[in-house]
Amino acid sequence: MEEKIVQLIKAAGVVGAGGAGFPTHVKVNANAGHVIVNGAECEPLLRVDQQLMSQKADLVVKGLEVVMEATGASRGTVALKGKYHDAIKNLTRAVAGKPIDLFILGDFYPAGDEHVTVYEVTGKIIPEGEIPLKVGCVVNNVETLVNVACALEGQPVTDTYLTVTGEVPKPMTFKVPVGTAMQEALALAGQDNLEGLVIIEGGPMMGNVVRDPELPVTKTTKALIVLPEDHPLIRKRNMSLAHILKQAQVACIQCVRCTDLCPRHMLGHRLSPHKVMRGIKYLQTGEEVLNMALSCTECGACEYACEVMMLSPRRVNAMLKQELGKNGIKLTPSDGREAVTPGREFMKIPSQRLVSNLGLVPYNVPAPLEEIDYRPGKVTIPMKQHIGAPARPVVAVGERVERGQMIGEIPAGSMGAMVHASIDGVVREISNHIVIEGDGVGGVAK
Ligand code: SF4
Ligand code: SF4
Repeated sequence: MEEKIVQLIKAAGVVGAGGAGFPTHVKVNANAGHVIVNGAECEPLLRVDQQLMSQKADLVVKGLEVVMEATGASRGTVALKGKYHDAIKNLTRAVAGKPIDLFILGDFYPAGDEHVTVYEVTGKIIPEGEIPLKVGCVVNNVETLVNVACALEGQPVTDTYLTVTGEVPKPMTFKVPVGTAMQEALALAGQDNLEGLVIIEGGPMMGNVVRDPELPVTKTTKALIVLPEDHPLIRKRNMSLAHILKQAQVACIQCVRCTDLCPRHMLGHRLSPHKVMRGIKYLQTGEEVLNMALSCTECGACEYACEVMMLSPRRVNAMLKQELGKNGIKLTPSDGREAVTPGREFMKIPSQRLVSNLGLVPYNVPAPLEEIDYRPGKVTIPMKQHIGAPARPVVAVGERVERGQMIGEIPAGSMGAMVHASIDGVVREISNHIVIEGDGVGGVAK
């Protein structure tokens, strides 16, 4: 049965919906004792997972049970925050009599960093550069488990749930077909004029500024946050790398606060962002500093920490990681003897303070989940929405396809994920994406 589960998940093209899109059939093809659902959703303004856990509690638990069966795990835990009252109520009912418990995480950022989540739930530290399996755990995102449950019924991933919020008339959460243009998703929330506005795809801490609103949503899109172009968060995001580096060199006072608040440093990892800043300042980026950059998750807690000088160790690390990646340099494994720093409990960043610090209080509003049946006139489906090799197109231009039909396969001998048509229509273009023109004009089906 375990092999059959893995094959069904693979055939459905399920990838981690909450991060970089790690193929789920690869993740669950392992032996683990404990499967943890990461329901922290700790980035401000995001509202997908908390509502899925409430409105689709049975599906989430079913997905969790499937992964437990595939991995042979005897224990399952849904880790979520105490403020998700409806989710807690519905999940408590859904897990009754099952070897699954709920774990209430503190309301801090980044409770959803999987190293942090695993430590909070189990008390075990995943060594630097390792994955949760190293300590016997598999961690899955909430929407991923909904997709796993659907995969067992033969339903491939064709849609993605996302929160559209910020400077929009009607903040809301809904699902749209993969490949829908972002500007269409924004229009569903009432925002069809983007003049003077900027879109962030993902959370305000880790998301990216979108330069082209016609770009498609993918299996991993969790949120589109619209902010005025003069919002402090956008101004900071738009700072050039040259400016960031210059600031790091002239303004870092080595106060160490960024290191004190770095969640990976607090788990005993060798990462000390103030030392990276010192290395940049004195142009001394030796092996120790480079290793630090490689273990950075780009969570942005260090930017929050540097509220006086307003520097960005995160951007500096990201730049170093990019350069090291180009040269094939990887993290040197640690000795696995990490220990939590004293006082960690008192150094966590409270979510409410983060929202306030980011200037997001006016936008910290509900974005209710509504089940709509949106049918775009056209979708642009990337062949790479996941970690690993891009999918290989298996359709031709002019070919008619149906929603759910496989249009991209995993190249032989590679790690990757299958890709499926998200609407009925005709293939109009094939490159590193497939464009499908739908039947009729787009809109919300009645
Ligand atoms: S918090 Fe800012 S000023 Fe202090 S060490 Fe870190 S980067 Fe430098
Ligand atoms: S972004 Fe900053 S706080 Fe987050 S892991 Fe990297 S160095 Fe640590």
